[in-house]
Amino acid sequence: MMQILAKCPQCDAGLPVAADDGSAAIVCGGCGHALTLTMSDALRADRGVDACPVCAGGDFYMRKDFDPTIGLTVVVIGATVSGVFYWFGKDLIAYGILAAAVFVDLIVYSRLKDLTVCYRCHTEFRGAYARTAPAFDLHTADVLEQEYERRIGRR
Ligand SMILES: [Zn+2]
Ligand SMILES: [Zn+2]
Repeated sequence: MMQILAKCPQCDAGLPVAADDGSAAIVCGGCGHALTLTMSDALRADRGVDACPVCAGGDFYMRKDFDPTIGLTVVVIGATVSGVFYWFGKDLIAYGILAAAVFVDLIVYSRLKDLTVCYRCHTEFRGAYARTAPAFDLHTADVLEQEYERRIGRR
């Protein structure tokens, strides 16, 4: 089943919802704003992301489902261990460990799954559905975010 992280239009809090029923009314835990989510058939069936349940937009991009803290931890541990070897004059080993940490990071990154993100409200979609959205485009993001923020009265 598709998991959706709906972004509150008022405070940007992430609100996890399952795409199992047609429409869901949820209340933001951060600011108390009431949202009505309209799930399309494709969302409910975990087939694809065609319409955003929060802002009704149809423009999405793909990004890696990356938790930055994991990557950072690997590099920090690598740098610490490497620093110890460097201190004892074993700089070749030190560089080796640092390179290994970066390498592990790259492997972790390449194994991550893609998730789909709504350009306008940044709602995230995770599931087994077919990924069809293009990569992130800064210009598109600029245009669509401004349009959305004007529509919900944040600018
Ligand atoms: Zn909120
Ligand atoms: Zn949206």
